[in-house]
Amino acid sequence: MNAEDFMTAEMTVLSRFLEGKPNRDLETTQLVSCELLRSVGMDSINCGINTLQNDSLALPVAEVQYALSAWFEINKREMPWRITRNPYHIWLSEIILQQTRVEQGIPYFMRLTTRFPTVESLSDADLDEVLQLWEGLGYYSRARNLHKAAKMIVEKWSGLIPSALDDLLSIPGVGPYTAAAISSIAFGHPHAVLDGNVIRVLSRIFAFPEDVALSSSKQTLHKMASALLDVRRPGDHNESMMELGALVCTPKPDCPICPVRSFCKGFETGTPTQFPVKRAKKKTPHYHIAVGVIRDEEGRIFIQKRSLDSMLGGLWEFPGGKNESTESYQQTCRREILEETGMSVDVGPLIASIPHAYSHFKITLHAYDCELTSSTIPSTALSWEWAVNEQLQEYAFPKANRLLINMLTQQESGTTEGNND
Ligand code: SF4
Repeated sequence: MNAEDFMTAEMTVLSRFLEGKPNRDLETTQLVSCELLRSVGMDSINCGINTLQNDSLALPVAEVQYALSAWFEINKREMPWRITRNPYHIWLSEIILQQTRVEQGIPYFMRLTTRFPTVESLSDADLDEVLQLWEGLGYYSRARNLHKAAKMIVEKWSGLIPSALDDLLSIPGVGPYTAAAISSIAFGHPHAVLDGNVIRVLSRIFAFPEDVALSSSKQTLHKMASALLDVRRPGDHNESMMELGALVCTPKPDCPICPVRSFCKGFETGTPTQFPVKRAKKKTPHYHIAVGVIRDEEGRIFIQKRSLDSMLGGLWEFPGGKNESTESYQQTCRREILEETGMSVDVGPLIASIPHAYSHFKITLHAYDCELTSSTIPSTALSWEWAVNEQLQEYAFPKANRLLINMLTQQESGTTEGNND
């Protein structure tokens, strides 16, 4: 951005800022901020800040809003959902971004809005197609809820995304954060968002001393976010807080370039990374899963569909399951296949061991070549298919299963360099 662009952006922000507050007065804004801090208990023992005086925490709200707004105007990243206020696009983008980075989410957003340009078209779609378009994004309950929600929006609101917070909260997959984001960004309603980025920014600006995982802390931080909210442009304000957390106030903050540095109590302490305060995390569990690649006489591979009410419900998978500590992976593979499908197999060589991390646990998927020793007609699997390798691309699989399919494809075409034994 050259100097002229910079000036233009600054003037735009300044004129917008002055629009809603022609008689801006710093003393007034500081008083407002002191009221805010009192209202959220920042001068009380309840909040845990009994060593700091209220005055030292006073924050000039309007100054912070202006600094954020000016910074955001110049530094915000281009995203396809930022060129519109279309509530359907905002909703879709917020669902995608719940557990996905922006760069990873953009192609999925483009793909979904191209295939389903309206809520109605999403509502009419087959769930399998939605899951297939979602494949690779993970957290598949988001896709199932999206589909369910589209049907609800068509039935209840004739295909129009509602703007009221309570209505939004009744939609599957929409929690307090997403409802506030849609309501403020798409409709301009004054609701503050509180996601991980905002929690990090606020806890540093206020040097918030409590464990942010506590629900009482979240309530206090939400009150702070609400009191800081620029009600004249709540959507932009919310986005600027989140963007600051994503680009500057990251886990390793770049304080020298931060627009709110001069207001930041965390920066004043000299060690802003001590915030947000978090208690020690429990060790992430690690599960070993053994699965079988079973082929029939025609070389087709057996796959089954996970039940809708299970984790990764509606996706396809190779049969198998979790290893018990008393058995080998081969024994797990044989037992699980028998339990799930009624088929007996001889477990052959290991094809690959594939590690994968979910949000709360890790797995290693051990895949074995298996030979059928009993009927080829599964008796207990919910829904199943025999599919040739190329057809496997047409089904939606969880990540580790998809990696296994890619390995099988490479092996078939002779491009693999061996397995992960
Ligand atoms: Fe975060 Fe540093 Fe900015 Fe404070 S000054 S908000 S710690 S980047």
